[in-house]
Amino acid sequence: MKLCFNEATTLENSTLAQDLVLCEKAGYDYIEIRTMDKLPEYLKMHSLEELKMFFTTHHLKPYALNALVFFNNRSAEEYAALLEEYRYMLEVAQYLHIPKIVVVPLVTEKKIATADIEQSAIHVLRELCDLALPAGVEVALEFVGHPQCTINTFEQAYQIVEQVDRHNIGVVFDCFHFYAMNSNIQFLETIDASKISILHVDDTEDYRPGMLTDEDRVWPGEGVIPLQTYFKILQQRGFNGVASIELFRPAYYQLPAEQVVETGKRTMENVLQVFQTNV
Ligand code: ZN
Repeated sequence: MKLCFNEATTLENSTLAQDLVLCEKAGYDYIEIRTMDKLPEYLKMHSLEELKMFFTTHHLKPYALNALVFFNNRSAEEYAALLEEYRYMLEVAQYLHIPKIVVVPLVTEKKIATADIEQSAIHVLRELCDLALPAGVEVALEFVGHPQCTINTFEQAYQIVEQVDRHNIGVVFDCFHFYAMNSNIQFLETIDASKISILHVDDTEDYRPGMLTDEDRVWPGEGVIPLQTYFKILQQRGFNGVASIELFRPAYYQLPAEQVVETGKRTMENVLQVFQTNV
């Protein structure tokens, strides 16, 4: 199984330039690049040409851009700005040969009817997929396991993706988000694994679903998420995609970045052994 590093894991203790070097050294296959902070910070001192050259001359390759956030149920003005940001992401993805762009649903305290959420999400995602087609990019829908997120369970995200009905869209399976809003395990047993775009690997402290926040994430295998249950089902469904470590833990931001990158890979490999029969 190919292993990826999501840059949120070293959000406050590393840069894109440093993440590239550390991930290459640790033996990762892929990196997910953050477009909301680490990429713009990188481009102050470097160029996209330089970034492309790095990937051309190293084993490490880019796997996704993270992330286009709050894509659904926006005002006309907000949506226009969102599309502008997305077009830039598509240009970057095409130039660097990045296969996926992660998109995140609206998070809001406002009450919006479920039907209105789904109608907007399907409409927007179809447009994002159609725009991505010439760039050869797949849209990766990441549901977020917080009560305030408008798409916050796996089954809701999966069913929206089915209704979008485009071949260049899939769902990000983030173990934390799946656990954090009690997504449905029985539903997972029925899925087409080719619609899983990326597997985000993480674990969490023992707080109740609905109360969890990203900062509660811990190294895979050190928390309470039934990772082996999830992975056995994904394996049985034929998932053979990329696994990406994604943590947001303030305590880990206090560690040397190299230690975080290495520990992330080791702990991720330990929990992914069920997939080794497929390698
Ligand atoms: Zn994630």
